[in-house]
Amino acid sequence: MNYNVDEHGYYGKFGGAYIPEMLYPNVEELRQNYLQIINDPDFLTQFSQLLRNYVGRPSPLYFASNLSEVYNTKVYLKREDLNHTGAHKINNTIGQILLAKKLGKQKIIAETGAGQHGVATATVCALMGMDCIVYMGKIDMERQRPNVERMKILGAKVVPALSGSQTLKDATNEAMRHWINNPTDTHYIIGSVVGPHPYPDMVARFQSVISAEMKNQLKEQTGNENPDYIIACVGGGSNAAGAFYHYLENENVKLIAAEAAGMGVQSGETAATTAIGTEGVLHGSKTLLMQTDDGQVVEPYSISAGLDYPGIGPIHAHLFDTGRALFQYVTDAEAMEAGVLLSKTEGIIPAVESAHALAVLKKVQFQPDETVVVNLSGRGDKDLETYIKWGKY
Ligand SMILES: *Cc1c(COP(=O)(O)O)cnc(C)c1O
Repeated sequence: MNYNVDEHGYYGKFGGAYIPEMLYPNVEELRQNYLQIINDPDFLTQFSQLLRNYVGRPSPLYFASNLSEVYNTKVYLKREDLNHTGAHKINNTIGQILLAKKLGKQKIIAETGAGQHGVATATVCALMGMDCIVYMGKIDMERQRPNVERMKILGAKVVPALSGSQTLKDATNEAMRHWINNPTDTHYIIGSVVGPHPYPDMVARFQSVISAEMKNQLKEQTGNENPDYIIACVGGGSNAAGAFYHYLENENVKLIAAEAAGMGVQSGETAATTAIGTEGVLHGSKTLLMQTDDGQVVEPYSISAGLDYPGIGPIHAHLFDTGRALFQYVTDAEAMEAGVLLSKTEGIIPAVESAHALAVLKKVQFQPDETVVVNLSGRGDKDLETYIKWGKY
């Protein structure tokens, strides 16, 4: 069984590039060049130096002894929360900005929902001296004011998307339109393993540094590079793709993806795509998405902005379809409880997204001698308001 992308850009029956003809030259330029560029020794040196000296990698692998005692199994945390800007997203934006430079681009565009990807993009644009425009739904801009200001401090221009529901999908449409009109000088940085081929594969490769490090660190700390389980949350799926990447072909390592159930899988307020989604095309790729019978995208809901997405990347649709990964559905309440528990037992306040992965520790029975790695995708500083509103701590 092959879990990686094939030469046509598909993961099993999912993936591909379903794009308007006007976008074809841009995507085709990327497709023809990305592998050659990112495997070039010069690129690899620049990428790994920035990951080390700017992002702060390798991120630690931490044996959480107190949490291990609570769940009577061996829990390790991959500390992506300690990266510069507080999450895994910077791994991808560093990779893509270097790639954009090699392609001779001078301008960067991105779209953002909660603002986390916008901040990670604005950060690397400041670092590299590139012009940066971030499209964001007008409503999202009001909801995520601190991130809007962060982007502006970093020198980015934040443009409100005024059409439709004035949220993420409208911002995506604006970014696409911009790219169609500026094909030669602009690169579009997508923030997860979504979008038309080659984006899902490209982003997964940039994030695969997570599992590459994990292997070395487990070998060093336990004598065995293979854990029994890896758990990661899935919004679009980039931190999970990175945490799973180097273990995809090793079926002794069980993979668990945590999706946001919101108020409950059947509540109508959820983002549990694999539970209630069906096949369709979203953001340029064939995947599973939440949609009505006539193909209208259903508005997702989750307490965590980063998991509040109506689809999943095609790699995860394939991992679900083949049974390679086990999918777990975590409600708002279960996630918040797990986030507070980590804070109290280990002194680490996790991002609410990452708390969804932590909640799986309570839902699946692990053996005392099993090694379970949880990918701690981000830190909770940005979520203080959510913790305060939740109140039970
Ligand atoms: C954006 C984000 C996610 C969700 O994105 P993926 O592409 O699914 O990884 C998860 N955790 C944190 C901390 C995030 O900021």
